[in-house]
Amino acid sequence: MTRTELIVADHVLVNDDAGTVLSPGAVEVADGRIVSVARPAARPAGPGVTDLGASVVMPGLVNAHAHTPMSLMRGTAEGHSLLTMEGFLTVLRSREEHLTPDMVPASVAVSCGDMIRHGTTAFADQYFYADEIAPTVERSGLRARIAWGIVELGDDAARARELDAAARFAESLPADGRVSAWVGPHAYFVDNTPEAMAAELALARRLDAGLHVHFSTSGEEDAWCLEHYGRPALEVLRDLGMLDVPTILAHCTTLPADQLPLLAGTRAVMAVIPSVAMMSGVPAAPVREALDHGVAVALGSDNVCNNTNTDLFEEMRVLGKLAAFTSRVPNQVTPREILRIATVGGHRALAGGPDDGRLVAGAVADLIAVPLAEVARGPVGAQSLEAALVYGTSGASVTHAMADGNWLMTDRAVHTLDLAAAARRQQDDYDILSSRMTGRRTRETTP
Ligand SMILES: [Zn+2]
Repeated sequence: MTRTELIVADHVLVNDDAGTVLSPGAVEVADGRIVSVARPAARPAGPGVTDLGASVVMPGLVNAHAHTPMSLMRGTAEGHSLLTMEGFLTVLRSREEHLTPDMVPASVAVSCGDMIRHGTTAFADQYFYADEIAPTVERSGLRARIAWGIVELGDDAARARELDAAARFAESLPADGRVSAWVGPHAYFVDNTPEAMAAELALARRLDAGLHVHFSTSGEEDAWCLEHYGRPALEVLRDLGMLDVPTILAHCTTLPADQLPLLAGTRAVMAVIPSVAMMSGVPAAPVREALDHGVAVALGSDNVCNNTNTDLFEEMRVLGKLAAFTSRVPNQVTPREILRIATVGGHRALAGGPDDGRLVAGAVADLIAVPLAEVARGPVGAQSLEAALVYGTSGASVTHAMADGNWLMTDRAVHTLDLAAAARRQQDDYDILSSRMTGRRTRETTP
């Protein structure tokens, strides 16, 4: 039987092009979808009504580039750039050599808990051992596209093994489920050969899945493609048909602006992570230029090894400030555009529907609530609610999170995962990983 729920709050941010805010507003939800959104003549009450009072209800944020198992290595990459092969090999692969599948679920739970508590309701993941990631994500209630990360470095045996694992994983989940499987080439041309890319594209097409890849993090793909093909990487990708399936291109920090028109009208989405660009000392992704060319843009956190958290409210704020700082143009990307990137752009990256990420009839019922008292907003009329959410709100203020019509968190209590148990197990996993690396038993003392 269909269960209908009416969510009421002092303010409902519709997230449409007109910047509509309903005060008060009511969102009707059934079967995982939004049925209606309206400003009620009288405050509804009674069975089936959840009144969140003096709060802002808004679409849940979408993390379009994550590596959930890597919360196990949070902090280990400080002082290194993970956007180069050198940093990737020195800091991460040296640890991942000792990582076993049993270490994945607890850290996935920690990451999913972080995302729920900070207002993220959907995400795109990329890592190996994806079959160990999926059950915890299913339990978390989050919407997700989980890509099996493929690193082959020209090794024929590794290529065959990873492609086989990715195919088996992708076939294990329904293509249209809340949690579905994608294919995750780690980085085209850098550590995935054209032979592997052709097989990955064929796999994505056969399973109606998408591709999730790091791209243009340091110019390595362009250097390789200019040497081998005489043209930039994006042109080669287009010619290979890699942009004709849903594709998340994570980072895009060194993507030349004159290449952006190649992305317009394709199924590829730029997923930018401004904090990681800053931490790694690389250029900001060309967000303004991408929007102007009609390129879809989404927001991500990347791994937390050198970014430290998954608070997309902070990431929205950093996007706006970094764009202004690097262009020397105040408000170069507007708060409305930034909210759109973190919601509608994210659902597009996950191959969702065109209205997903807005609170309108027919969209997925993914939403969050923030108490008005914790939104640093000027007097009404002085500042838009959108600007206050981007520049004056912490993800830690989120009290409620719903995905697919189900409450994952109410009154700051996460219901779907045992986060205390996950944190304890993660510490044990970290101690074992450290002992494997050093060859002796160690325990880091945490303050
Ligand atoms: Zn990444």
